[in-house]
Amino acid sequence: MSTPFWGPDFDALQQQDPEIAGVVLNELDRLRGGLQLIASENLTSPAVLAALGSTLSNKYAEGYPGRRYYGGCQVVDVAEEIGIARTKELFGAEHANLQPHSGASANLAAYAAFAEPGDTVLAMDLKQGGHLTHGSKVNFSGQWFNAVSYTVREDSELIDYDQVRDLARENRPKIIIAGATAYPRLIDFKAFREIADEVGAIFMVDAAHFIGLVAGKAIPSPVPYADVVTATTHKVLRGPRGGMILSRAEHAKALDKAVFPFSQGGPLMHSVAAKAVAMKEASTPEYQAYADQVIANAQALSKSLEAEGMRAVSGGTDTHLALIDLRPIGVTGSEAEARSEAARITLNKNAIPYDPAPPMKPSGIRVGSPSVTTQGMVETDMVEIGRLLARAVKAEQGTPAGDAELADIAEAVSALVARAPAYPRP
Ligand SMILES: *Cc1c(COP(=O)(O)O)cnc(C)c1O
Repeated sequence: MSTPFWGPDFDALQQQDPEIAGVVLNELDRLRGGLQLIASENLTSPAVLAALGSTLSNKYAEGYPGRRYYGGCQVVDVAEEIGIARTKELFGAEHANLQPHSGASANLAAYAAFAEPGDTVLAMDLKQGGHLTHGSKVNFSGQWFNAVSYTVREDSELIDYDQVRDLARENRPKIIIAGATAYPRLIDFKAFREIADEVGAIFMVDAAHFIGLVAGKAIPSPVPYADVVTATTHKVLRGPRGGMILSRAEHAKALDKAVFPFSQGGPLMHSVAAKAVAMKEASTPEYQAYADQVIANAQALSKSLEAEGMRAVSGGTDTHLALIDLRPIGVTGSEAEARSEAARITLNKNAIPYDPAPPMKPSGIRVGSPSVTTQGMVETDMVEIGRLLARAVKAEQGTPAGDAELADIAEAVSALVARAPAYPRP
């Protein structure tokens, strides 16, 4: 091969468009200069970024490998074939589709494969940790389907499986969905499967958040239980921003058609190739160790915040994220988010189950460990992060003392990330 790589050429960007080059550099500085505790984010590898920044972005490849609507797809076909084979192998799935542009697109396709507008679907309440695409009134899922919501138990803050069964018997949903954006515990896929079988529903798992932990064999897989598993590729899994669908062979055709041509046009082949790279990375023993460390770190952070007087929803976490109730320290989620930001700790405010406060001023925050674990941080670092975060959320921003305290914490954060930087300089 004599072809030199014609890849991301940052000098060219700087020359042609200094404004956007500046944005790219500023974002890199932001990532390097602070702590990213957003549970749905991660730091992709340079290899994934190289595939994303490649000429594969140019290719129209509507259809699937070997069955395209455009010529010249023989090269990109290889990327998609490799990606599909790696994905099926990694998850033990009979079928994989890597074309969904995002997690929401994967969910749209999954709904389309199994339900008609007006049908009933049963999913977790958005206010309690579910996702917009699980039946929210502002989303297609809530407008096109009769969405019924299950909740967590008020006492344990764990999914109420008895309620799921009762609602399934009563409403006879076409699809039952398990999976959430802010649920720190493992989900009992077997229990859901039994309920789905009892009422003749399709069992769909939206594994957007935790599929990376499944890839790393750190938590049980939904694949043996679900008819269809939708996911993102950019959360714990650490691939490019995008979506994917895994399923049993019997549903392959319906799902492929629901992605293309029903809900999407041409696939993003640079992203499909980058997904293939991510699957290779996620198949290694190093990644398995990473996935275990992600959970150990989330648990250490959650315990550290409890030691500082906050309450971990459900008493802790089995995954990469913790939901923290701030009412015991008298701080709102919005205050905590703004104060943390000033201390260079990025996280998001989040409603807690049965939150008495309004959605824009919820009682909690959500914290996650995927990004800091990619940087190489371990439990002892998480204890330190917990202490810094606790100081930050308690600082009275806007007062001279509070602002000085936040500046002081920001310094400590800089020192901490200097020991384990994101995208270390060569
Ligand atoms: C993140 C997420 C999605 C959506 O993924 P996007 O890529 O943002 O569209 C869907 N479902 C769940 C449960 C998620 O956490």
